[in-house]
Amino acid sequence: MFNKILIANRGEIALRIIRTCREMGIKTVAVYSTADRDSLHVRFADEAVCIGPPASSESYLSIQRIMAAVEITNADAVHPGYGFLAENADFAEVCAEYGIKFIGPTPEQIMKMGDKITAKETMIAAGVPVVPGSGGLLTDVETGLKLAKEIGYPVILKATAGGGGKGMRVVWKDEEFEPAWNTARMEAKASFSNDGIYMEKYIEEPRHIEFQVAGDQYGRVVHLSERDCSIQRRHQKLVEECPSPFMTDELREAMGNAAVKAAEAINYEGVGTIEFLVDKYRNFYFMEMNTRIQVEHPVTEEVIDFDLIKEQIKIAAGEPITGPNRYPTMHAMECRINAEDPNHDFRPSPGRITSFHSSKGHGVRVDTHVYAGYTIPPYYDSMIAKLICRARTREECILKMERALDEFIIEGIKTTVPFHQKLMKDENFRKGNFHTGFLNTFDFKDKE
Ligand code: ADP
Repeated sequence: MFNKILIANRGEIALRIIRTCREMGIKTVAVYSTADRDSLHVRFADEAVCIGPPASSESYLSIQRIMAAVEITNADAVHPGYGFLAENADFAEVCAEYGIKFIGPTPEQIMKMGDKITAKETMIAAGVPVVPGSGGLLTDVETGLKLAKEIGYPVILKATAGGGGKGMRVVWKDEEFEPAWNTARMEAKASFSNDGIYMEKYIEEPRHIEFQVAGDQYGRVVHLSERDCSIQRRHQKLVEECPSPFMTDELREAMGNAAVKAAEAINYEGVGTIEFLVDKYRNFYFMEMNTRIQVEHPVTEEVIDFDLIKEQIKIAAGEPITGPNRYPTMHAMECRINAEDPNHDFRPSPGRITSFHSSKGHGVRVDTHVYAGYTIPPYYDSMIAKLICRARTREECILKMERALDEFIIEGIKTTVPFHQKLMKDENFRKGNFHTGFLNTFDFKDKE
């Protein structure tokens, strides 16, 4: 087992990883930018190293500075968390060169799944259903228009290097194609310095249902059931839950098998997520694989009572995965609490938290790095807390979530708490009647 793990991340996930390391008797090193001096991950790690100024490019994304921190602290493994360098094959490669264990898959596996077109080709070869589409990069508007006719509108243009919903445009008819193509390319270029665009059939009113998988260094892969992430705003997840209200035993079996097959196809080592779109007839299509721990992993931890970070570390240390496929025996739901103003188009609301009281009580879990007096820096992701509730049924879970949201006090900044409070009361949400476009028609503004 590792002696000391350096956590190449910040915020709640850095803290989450430190917690498990503590329980496993592993020492921890935090890295931080000058904007994160007062963050809890810095306080709770055994050691902390300042790696640069606020800009991510000069701190959390700087492979050189992180490797320097590894060297001076003598860490023998690196946990990348999510975001930043978590799916950066070069970083995994550099770690390997230095003889440091990267807690995650191999550089080859990251590369195979990081490029969405290559990933889809791998899945087709493995017999996993994928969304019909261009099968490769689009070269120009003319070929795109021709293909859109063949596939049939609506279609969606997507960045091959995509992430976080960026570089995606839905096209409903010929006239819209060229402007959509131009904006998708511009956005992709700006966000990923890669303007490669491909096309897919746009699945109408789909659900986003993903499967958690885990694979070890000996070729064994299991699945740990699903998470329904259909509550999204502009393709970004806001609420996740398990079981999916849309799930049946047969569908779980079929999707679970496909997810295992998908991970086996690349001999996947580590924990990962296979994302699917599911249409209203319960046809499911592979969308992408995330080769890292996800923001929403606590949902799975709660329904199967299992520490996914611990499993990740054990797999990296060469231990075989524990147990068979796992199925939910409880219901869990996560609300992402962001420092954003839901009344003003969810615009970021950084600043000083003057008063903070986190929800508590039976079945309530809060993963956060913030506290009263903490100042949220404007440079990073706006998520400041994850509120996770667990109960025996979905109904009870929603009641618990409503109670927990009412108890959550965050003053000094705007948050998405009022949005979640409204959502929990929505009749269609309560009935489990929703798809990824649900929030487009959902009125969440406070009446003024
Ligand atoms: P990203 O990597 O940017 O998150 P994804 O490929 O995971 O992009 O897609 C994000 C979201 O975009 C999905 O959850 C879904 O809501 C929507 N989406 C993506 N592809 C399609 C499609 N072919 N049809 C309908 N919706 C889609």
